[in-house]
Amino acid sequence: MKASWLLGLAWVGMLAHAQEPPAALPFKLEPLAPGVYAAIDQGGRAGANAGVIIGSEAIAIVDSFYRPEATRALLAEVRKLSPLPLRYLINTHHHIDHVAGNAQLVAAGALVIAHRNVQAWQHGENLRLLGGEEKAGAAARELLATLPQPQLSYQQALELELGGRKLLLRHYPGHTGGDTVVAVPDAQLLFTGDLFWRRSIPNLIDARSGDWIATLERLTRGRAQARFVPGHGEVGDSADVQAFRAYLTTLRELAGQAWAQGLRGEEAQAQVLKALAERFGDWAYFKGLAAANVRDALAEQAGSKRVPTPLVELD
Ligand SMILES: [Zn+2]
Repeated sequence: MKASWLLGLAWVGMLAHAQEPPAALPFKLEPLAPGVYAAIDQGGRAGANAGVIIGSEAIAIVDSFYRPEATRALLAEVRKLSPLPLRYLINTHHHIDHVAGNAQLVAAGALVIAHRNVQAWQHGENLRLLGGEEKAGAAARELLATLPQPQLSYQQALELELGGRKLLLRHYPGHTGGDTVVAVPDAQLLFTGDLFWRRSIPNLIDARSGDWIATLERLTRGRAQARFVPGHGEVGDSADVQAFRAYLTTLRELAGQAWAQGLRGEEAQAQVLKALAERFGDWAYFKGLAAANVRDALAEQAGSKRVPTPLVELD
């Protein structure tokens, strides 16, 4: 059941595939600044968003998609844009829909970079996300077993140079505890991974909502003019990030109220879900993910929400 949102995306993807001409890309490559592109998933056919950043000496890609044909198509598009070497692949977090294409990009020359927890979680936590050994199936088990690990890990922040263009990688807690935001300061642009979902109900399976709400406040502070490329959904502005923050705040408050009223189990879930639908029922994935979000929010109230165990802090 935990993997149902992934399976749901796959199903949507198959439907979309049947209706679209075969030549259509599984993502929309959206130019955001000279040499900076968002690759926005189209109908679940890529599985998540990605990004391409080109400097005067090298290229970086942010996230590698879920579906191999989408990663293949992204590489082909990058080769049309520039002959420069692909130097870096930055994984915004460990979730399989953002890292499944890693091997293809490593074969194309990229060094994989991620927060240090990603290395610890990439195999076991993704297996759990896919429903465990049995349910994941042979293909997914094989994919996870051979997935290239990050070759460069960092704890708090890291600066990369692409030639005439810097990338700032910074860790923020919330979606998984191993999340990276990639900032392109000269373009006032941030690739947020799954810390931001635009007008979409998020996946909270590994999340801590309190940390996440604080992170979204920090990300928008002093950035009224910035644009934000989410892990899922269209490119947004700071108002969109604040709307997403309002979703998490509302969910947390509704769960807290139900808990304080003494409601438990299905009774609590029904009350929170009904109130949530009144405000956010038209967001993407509401049907597939909102009920699970409510269960997770109530588990936080109960103190029983499970999150991945981070590596011991170094300082
Ligand atoms: Zn995720």
